Amino acid sequence: MRRFPCRPAETGAPAHERCFADQVLGRRLDEALARPAAQQPSWPAPERAGAVIEQLQRADPIVVPAETAQLADQLASVARGEAFLLQGGDCAETFVDNTEAHLHANLQVLSRMSAELTHAAGMPVVTVARMAGQYAKPRSNAVDASGLPVYRGDIINSAEPTAEARTPDPQRMLRAHAHSAGAMRVIRGVRASGVYISHEMLLLEYERAGLWADACGPGARLTSGLAHFLWIGERTRQLDGAHVAFAELISNPIGLKLGPSVTPELAVEYVERLDPHATPGRLTLVSRMGHDRVRDVLPPIVEKVTASGHQVVWQCDPMHGNTRNSRNGFKTRHFDHVVDEIAGFFDVHRGLGTHPGGIHVEVTGEDVTECLGGTSGIAEHELPTRYRTACDPRLNAEQSIELASCVAELLAARRTGVQARSR
Ligand code: PEP
Ligand code: MN
Repeated sequence: MRRFPCRPAETGAPAHERCFADQVLGRRLDEALARPAAQQPSWPAPERAGAVIEQLQRADPIVVPAETAQLADQLASVARGEAFLLQGGDCAETFVDNTEAHLHANLQVLSRMSAELTHAAGMPVVTVARMAGQYAKPRSNAVDASGLPVYRGDIINSAEPTAEARTPDPQRMLRAHAHSAGAMRVIRGVRASGVYISHEMLLLEYERAGLWADACGPGARLTSGLAHFLWIGERTRQLDGAHVAFAELISNPIGLKLGPSVTPELAVEYVERLDPHATPGRLTLVSRMGHDRVRDVLPPIVEKVTASGHQVVWQCDPMHGNTRNSRNGFKTRHFDHVVDEIAGFFDVHRGLGTHPGGIHVEVTGEDVTECLGGTSGIAEHELPTRYRTACDPRLNAEQSIELASCVAELLAARRTGVQARSR
């Protein structure tokens, strides 16, 4: 087990105890990863993947625990109702688009959204980018419409529609790591960009290779050096599966996507597993119910989780429950449905007296035509003009800023409502 270097005074325990702790952590990790894991690639030559993993285990971390701990503190404020969380970026990052221009455009749109929200919320906004590692995609089908193995993200195969390009290639994990490190350098170079990085914790052998023993505090813990924040997706949240068991073992703040089939009882089971010490903000529950269901499905979940005493971050993903196919064959979302799901999320929290803690959105600073509607009224026939996403449709820069001003109105209304009630 690799350890982050600590100054001697911060080293919690004598060397023999640290070694024992590492063995215990290693064993728990083996047990977690022996569970069934959904959405993993089958590499054609597994021994080649093994060699890549060995190299990755020697790679430098992309983030350091002090930053991750700072995010955990800020998410605790969100959970207590004292801050708002904005998370966003590409659905799928790609190697070819990992350019300074693209990263800057996405950082800029996040920063403009954040400024709008900060002003309206009257509280700090914590900004987390889907960036510097969002390379693995869960898919609903194993093959695409032409019968080829489906694209699973640049960390696994290529989107190019040939059998060869779609064959999983473990070398891509090294490229993904190098691209992530490069993106992080760009982010750090933007002075005061102030964003944290996040991605879906999907490809477990890669995620494991990015773990470090963080012994800088009391007791050794595992921390991911790959991102500050990791989330478990809707397709990999099986209670007896490897993803949940893996997330239990790491100290980074964790997100969990919740679709409309989640019952309040199941939500509480997740919370007890993933936030066993009832740490405010340790767990972010990301509801993605669909605009027509959020008002019915979410309230009993929020009620039951709140009654359990855990202080989670409630975050709304208004994208993934609102995806549909246009008549001309594009996967798209309508801006109005995105806004309506967020409005429903705010209604639910207003009704229950809980904090609508944040939003999780797929956005880009580029002028793409992937989602319908918004001020410029993108119509179905315009989708092919600049439809560039590698996976799900993103709001373009204009739609993203417009969304931020809709959310700002909801935040401002909530604030004046709260003030009116407390007078
Ligand atoms: C995603 O965030 O890109 C995603 C696949 O979401 P979900 O797991 O909620 O479907
Ligand atoms: Mn997506």
